[in-house]
Amino acid sequence: MHVREQVPLASLTTLGIGGPAAVLLELTDPADLPEIAAFAAAHGTHPLVLGGGSNVLAADSGCSAPVIKMATEGIRFQPDPDNGTVLMTVDAGHSLQDLVDTAIAEGLTGMETLTGIPGTVGATPVQNVGAYGQEVADTLVSVDAWDWEQGRAVSLSAEQCRLGHRTSIFKHSHRWLLLRVVFRMRPSTLSTPITYRQVADALDVPLGTRVPLAEAAAGVLAVRQGKGMVLMPGDLDNRNAGSVFLSPVITPRAAKRLRAQDAPVHDFSDGSTRVSASWLIKETGFALGQWLAEGVRLSTKQYTLVADQGATAAAFAAAAEAVMDAVYKTTSVRLTPEPDLFGDEPTYRRLTEQGLPRLLEPSANAPHG
Ligand SMILES: Cc1cc2nc3c(=O)[nH]c(=O)nc-3n(C[C@H](O)[C@H](O)[C@H](O)COP(=O)(O)OP(=O)(O)OC[C@H]3O[C@@H](n4cnc5c(N)ncnc54)[C@H](O)[C@@H]3O)c2cc1C
Repeated sequence: MHVREQVPLASLTTLGIGGPAAVLLELTDPADLPEIAAFAAAHGTHPLVLGGGSNVLAADSGCSAPVIKMATEGIRFQPDPDNGTVLMTVDAGHSLQDLVDTAIAEGLTGMETLTGIPGTVGATPVQNVGAYGQEVADTLVSVDAWDWEQGRAVSLSAEQCRLGHRTSIFKHSHRWLLLRVVFRMRPSTLSTPITYRQVADALDVPLGTRVPLAEAAAGVLAVRQGKGMVLMPGDLDNRNAGSVFLSPVITPRAAKRLRAQDAPVHDFSDGSTRVSASWLIKETGFALGQWLAEGVRLSTKQYTLVADQGATAAAFAAAAEAVMDAVYKTTSVRLTPEPDLFGDEPTYRRLTEQGLPRLLEPSANAPHG
């Protein structure tokens, strides 16, 4: 375990925003967990957890609770002779991109369209990470976690994780530290059927086609790169937290109407039908690259917010609010922000009310039991 003090959260998040973490504990070996738990107990708060920092808006004032940065790595394979599948047990700090690449190289299908998503494997059940027709819920078997409330290690089945569209029991909670994630993968040289028009077009195949795993990933990557949805050092839009807003649920009638307008409307495994938030932002009249607040603008490639020189969390939150208001006025659809607020800044009240929770509530933060 490495311990550092006064570490800028800006250096640990893809938006490059955030004041200092008072204490940063880097967990490289799960055997150090009891020591971290003892440290947290002495501190009197649940620590907060960071993986790759690609789905958080960190407070300008930083974080007074200890922050654990997950840096454990490793993948273990276990064939299941009963049904021919393969279980992959992955340490939480492992890079998601490396896991996807490894699964493809091993001839295992189930996460090839998750290529290009930054961050760690431990964060993937938190919001049931998904893209282009696959999501963690398709392959998740269980997670091993540390439960700060009970003060012990627990194992939770996929069902107990209650995965939904970009959500789970872990989202908006700091009760659990996910240590390991178990996935069940199917041996196959071919991908699951391609269900996204843009990916099918990039691959020049009809919707529903199964293609070699690496080809499916290459098609997804090409689409993502075109939208600036792959982090590339040096790129103008690299200070990015992905979509920023969830795709809102729409009624079957609205879905029919929007599909006729060629809008990106998709059906999800939780039974919901959703339209892309980026499309709504575009329809509202925003322009690519448009400035929204000091240091915050839309990406030059996609209708999502990015940070630029001088960005602060307060400005990012104000920009997100302005976009939400404008989209609501024009389309009557309320957008919900996707990233978690990280740290102890009380300046985002409105966003909090609208779905972006504060992860640190000092008064409610004492360990239970
Ligand atoms: C360019 C770009 C593209 C993206 N595209 C997608 C996409 O297509 N689909 C998608 O779903 N997401 C996407 N995202 C969002 C993000 O990459 C994912 O949500 C990713 O899983 C976050 O991983 P992370 O390690 O960076 O998590 P962090 O940002 O570090 O943390 C996110 C949340 O998870 C919690 N957390 C992290 N690790 C643990 C752990 N081990 N135990 C408990 N809690 C934990 C944190 O406390 C925080 O609340 C994108 C982001 C970017 C920047």
